[in-house]
Amino acid sequence: MKMAEAMERAFGSKPEELLAAIGPSIGPCCYEVDQPVAEAFAAKMDWRPENFIKNGGNGKYMLNLWEANRRALLCAGLLPERISIAELCTQCHADLLYSHRASGGKRGGLAAFFALKEASACQN
Ligand SMILES: [Zn+2]
Repeated sequence: MKMAEAMERAFGSKPEELLAAIGPSIGPCCYEVDQPVAEAFAAKMDWRPENFIKNGGNGKYMLNLWEANRRALLCAGLLPERISIAELCTQCHADLLYSHRASGGKRGGLAAFFALKEASACQN
């Protein structure tokens, strides 16, 4: 939400004009946390926890960070069709991507690069 506000101040961007991408990260298939973490996470969110926290049993919960971030972007005014989610779990694909949990903390990092591009008259 703060980024959308900052972009509107700096560039005049309207939230409904923004594109957003949620890149690879640990997925809801693998992001298991204990109850105190799940409760603290839910307390920080304005939405119903069942939308992004599933009870895995035995005091464990599965967090869906992709969905939590998608909802944060929607609350910032982005349109659902302009939000892309890679749905690529780093732990499931530790052979391709760095995963903190899969490597036991002995890992590298992921990065993304963005740039503003001047609009071109050519639309091809
Ligand atoms: Zn996974």
